[in-house]
Amino acid sequence: MQVLQTIAQMRAARPGAGDLGLVPTMGYLHAGHLSLVERAKAECGAVAVSIFVNPTQFGPGEDLSRYPRDLPRDLGMLEAAGVDLVFAPEPSEIYPPGFATEIRVGGVTDVLEGAVRPGHFAGVATVVAKLFNIVQPTRAYFGQKDAQQSVVIRKLVADLDLPVEIVVAPTVREADGLALSSRNSYLTPEQRAAAPAIFRALTAARVLFEGGERDAEAVRQAMRATIAAEPDMRIDYVSVADPETLRELSTVDRAALASMAVRLGATRLIDNLLLGGEAAGR
Ligand code: AMP
Repeated sequence: MQVLQTIAQMRAARPGAGDLGLVPTMGYLHAGHLSLVERAKAECGAVAVSIFVNPTQFGPGEDLSRYPRDLPRDLGMLEAAGVDLVFAPEPSEIYPPGFATEIRVGGVTDVLEGAVRPGHFAGVATVVAKLFNIVQPTRAYFGQKDAQQSVVIRKLVADLDLPVEIVVAPTVREADGLALSSRNSYLTPEQRAAAPAIFRALTAARVLFEGGERDAEAVRQAMRATIAAEPDMRIDYVSVADPETLRELSTVDRAALASMAVRLGATRLIDNLLLGGEAAGR
């Protein structure tokens, strides 16, 4: 496994022939990231993983400075997983002095995470476009866990004609339903014990939907009620939206994305479930 820190090193190491899969991450890896690596390995001749805590996707007052980092541990996990290339640049390599360009994807970034975290998706879109240009993958792998991010990346790729195939893979969960996340490491034992309420709320939405409920507000209300029973959990948003446009639905008469963001103390967690449809896949 080669570990590259500069753009020049990464370009030189990229295999000239054959298809290359890229798994972009912010590190502090877990089994969710590794599921993307496995999928990429199954589908591509070579696999690259990027590890970069992208400063431009964090807002003022967010957790950039305390975001968990452990590069030696990450590299051990990626070596064991059979990854070929790891791109782990310093922020100054990606954003040198004078850097002045930003990609803003419209529409699908106005709502949900985009409404609560202004500028977040411009940071994501810009860094992902740069990573695609630097690594030049055939395919790039993203998790359904960050559903809106996947929608934004698909739009970026379509609108800018980027020659990359986007693959979205299912969310990996703990046994109690909590979606794996690097941010779970922030949780106190009490918060960790409360956190599965998020998946219970999403499951309540799915059960209602599968039982025939078509009133989106009734589905949102069931999610809110599950979270309201947790004294230390605060709702940022609860949503039942079109999985492609991310606009809120009034009637769930087609596949829908049930999603939510909650705060447990200073920690913000997001999760989602698709109602009436499988994960988007390709
Ligand atoms: P992050 O390091 O949190 O930026 O995540 C890197 C990639 O891993 C993103 O495409 C995420 O959607 C994906 N990911 C994060 N958590 C999970 C999970 N629990 N299951 C599947 N994919 C995940």
